[in-house]
Amino acid sequence: MSSRTNSGAGAQSTCKNCGAFVTRRFARVYGNNADEVYGCLNCQRARDLREGNHLDARHKRATT
Ligand SMILES: [Zn+2]
Repeated sequence: MSSRTNSGAGAQSTCKNCGAFVTRRFARVYGNNADEVYGCLNCQRARDLREGNHLDARHKRATT
């Protein structure tokens, strides 16, 4: 791959699922603890994102 996304602590992250760019704010809202996004508006429905259906149980915040 010839990715040019290595911009250090840039303003954007990428969806781990489809590779689309997402904003840092989006990552904080819909990402996991590490602000990693496993589903974005490009590859998931907005309803699923809100409900967290795209997140595997492993990626959800620990509730214990
Ligand atoms: Zn995506």
